[in-house]
Amino acid sequence: PYTGPTAAEILTKRKEFLSPSMFYFYEKPVNVVHGKMQYLFDENGRRYLDAFGGIATVSCGHCHPDVVKAIVNQTETLQHSTVLYLNHAITDFAEALASKLPSDLKVVFFTNSGTEANELAMMMARLYTGCHDIVSLRNAYHGNASGTMGATAQCNWKFNVVQSGVHHAINPDPYRGLFGSDGEKYAKDVEDLIQFGTSGQVAAFMSEAIQGVGGIVELASGYLPAVYSSIRKAGGLCIADEVQSGFGRTGSHFWGFENQGVVPDIVTMAKGIGNGIPVGAVVTTPKIAEVLTRRSYFNTFGGNPVCTAAGHAVLRVIERENLQENAHVVGSYLKERLNALKDKHEIIGDVRGRGLMLGVELVTDRESKTPAKVEILQVMDQMKEMGVLIGKGGFYGNVFRITPPLCFSLQDADFLVDVMDYAMAKL
Ligand code: PMP
Repeated sequence: PYTGPTAAEILTKRKEFLSPSMFYFYEKPVNVVHGKMQYLFDENGRRYLDAFGGIATVSCGHCHPDVVKAIVNQTETLQHSTVLYLNHAITDFAEALASKLPSDLKVVFFTNSGTEANELAMMMARLYTGCHDIVSLRNAYHGNASGTMGATAQCNWKFNVVQSGVHHAINPDPYRGLFGSDGEKYAKDVEDLIQFGTSGQVAAFMSEAIQGVGGIVELASGYLPAVYSSIRKAGGLCIADEVQSGFGRTGSHFWGFENQGVVPDIVTMAKGIGNGIPVGAVVTTPKIAEVLTRRSYFNTFGGNPVCTAAGHAVLRVIERENLQENAHVVGSYLKERLNALKDKHEIIGDVRGRGLMLGVELVTDRESKTPAKVEILQVMDQMKEMGVLIGKGGFYGNVFRITPPLCFSLQDADFLVDVMDYAMAKL
């Protein structure tokens, strides 16, 4: 049994010693003391089904034994920066990662986070093209350093500091967007942006395949092929931010961008790649990678053997346990059940996403799509009381984000929907 500090004690210390900007879910936040696969346990040994751990980095399941073993073994053998000396952990993982990417995408730069990966990708695109202008999407989240905060486009995540050179295109959001699900019309906006907002030449276009923080917004079909073509005509590179949608999460494909049939020039990843260990990566072509030879480029912990051993173990688990296939099967079933729930509860305005990256948007009125900001908190709290932890996001904070570890089962899907059904009925 757990004998550590209580939730109340931790909360008091957190208020005194940690950043005042930190926030938490639930009126009474959960003190998680232990995790096992798709479950989390609180201080009283109470079990919760974790339907959000995937976004907070856990792809194969909390404390997956194979990943833990790889981390422990490597920690006992060597923990050091692998920049200056040779070690096989980094090369083995880089090779395995490259084998998962299409085309000539095979040069890997390791980082410690998604922000760092996107910062590096943006810098490389600028160096490669000699241009500064980058196009990203409204409602995107790409990180919290100056470049990536510039590319992020939701005012609640942006501080008022210099973030130069990013243009934010109209979001190809099939539910709330200006042009419905007409991907080509949204793509035309990017063409206009290039012509009227830049010199006609750009460094890059960067986007998620499914916006995560933005509330599981799947880009309108046909959008990426058209935009990639306009960007390339303007001399720019196409960057896919796979921090949330990568590693089999969308089920039908290993990478989110594959759902639109495009091949990016640079792919960035983090979160689920380490199953809880801080590791990120940028993968690009040998030709683009050359730009970093112009100066020294150094990242102390990027690609250290403990993190790369963990990442490599994650890839092996995803393959051995068919987790991508599981995301497809369980995700499709879950989406079907959520759609049936939409027929029952007026408050559900939209059900969307792919695989185990699903969103349920709550509105008080389906016609005006007024965000149900208060109701979502009530449902979320009630679900927690019944043993299900679920995520929340979207610009208005009214979208449930369902992104569980990829080992989520059909029974888990049933339990989640039954609990959500009950909580909504109680509203
Ligand atoms: N890109 C996307 C799509 C993200 O969701 C996030 C984090 N929410 C980031 C980048 C930044 O990653 P990190 O928090 O590891 O810096």
